[in-house]
Amino acid sequence: MYDENIKKFFDLVENSQKILLLTHRNPDGDAIGSILSMQKLLITLNKDVLSFCVDAFPENFNYLHGVNLIKNSLDKIENEYDLIVTLDCGDLYMTKIEEKIKTLKSKFGLVNIDHHFTNPGFGDLNIVMNEASSTAEIVYLILKKIGYEINSDIATNLLTGIITDTGNFTNNATTKQSIEIASKLLEIGANFKEILKANVYNKTISVLKLWGIVLKRIVYNTELQMVETAVFESDLKSLDLDNEASEGISNYLNNLSSDIKFSILLKDNESGKIKGSLRTTRDDVDVSQIALAFGGGGHRKASGFEVDGRLELKNGMWKIVG
Ligand code: 5GP
Ligand code: MN
Repeated sequence: MYDENIKKFFDLVENSQKILLLTHRNPDGDAIGSILSMQKLLITLNKDVLSFCVDAFPENFNYLHGVNLIKNSLDKIENEYDLIVTLDCGDLYMTKIEEKIKTLKSKFGLVNIDHHFTNPGFGDLNIVMNEASSTAEIVYLILKKIGYEINSDIATNLLTGIITDTGNFTNNATTKQSIEIASKLLEIGANFKEILKANVYNKTISVLKLWGIVLKRIVYNTELQMVETAVFESDLKSLDLDNEASEGISNYLNNLSSDIKFSILLKDNESGKIKGSLRTTRDDVDVSQIALAFGGGGHRKASGFEVDGRLELKNGMWKIVG
């Protein structure tokens, strides 16, 4: 089925000239690594490609090839395309321009390339592989299938996606296939050192101090066997940090021993919205179901949501209040 869909995708690409590539809000290494790799393929094929992400890419991704071509401003998006492709978007709303997309004309519709468990298949063509570690892994399979020669720049882009989404080859997304593909990307010349420097060994003292504040705030719900903590705008301000500084804390909570069922990090950035990040390492817990209940989604072991409200500590637990 996948092979067939990849072939269909490539037929659409060959018959298209103007192509719009999209990825999700708050882009992570996988979003960025996969959109940049797809962008490079389309540029090589002489397509007229516009890559869009509603949020600017965090600066630590500047080592990736093609970042300078990404557009964040809505007025760069034209009204008509031959093809629209979303990458790493578990839902169309994750682009944060869902309404705008619906107004666009696209000759061959929308192709949804993703690996999230809760992806509803919103594309006209869906290449959604839940068993893939990352969207970058799917892009790798697509490039291989169409016989595109991956160079060291693309290899670095793709390996960034695999490394970030597998939590440096530690979480449940780490599979034999993801390690095999990573190994092939290293053989091609992916810059492993640079990836680690930019994504792992990149925390400033202030960032670690923030982690300290957030870790100290942990509370434990014995009934749900859940660990909860929170990060506030005032924490960021006190350390002169931006929102990105809390990236990584939710994954770090996976270091908890498995008598804890799951963890949740709640972020209150004073916008009136609370962002929740859920993590588990247990096979008998599916956090995507909890995220879905809050209107979000994601993977069984890592998912998220965003709801209206603000955070309050009530009876020793962090609560979202209206
Ligand atoms: P994070 O907690 O790192 O923001 O997200 C964990 C995973 O859940 C990511 O793969 C992310 O794409 C997904 N996710 C986070 N928030 C949402 C959301 O509001 N809706 C959906 N569908 N997926 C989300
Ligand atoms: Mn991903």
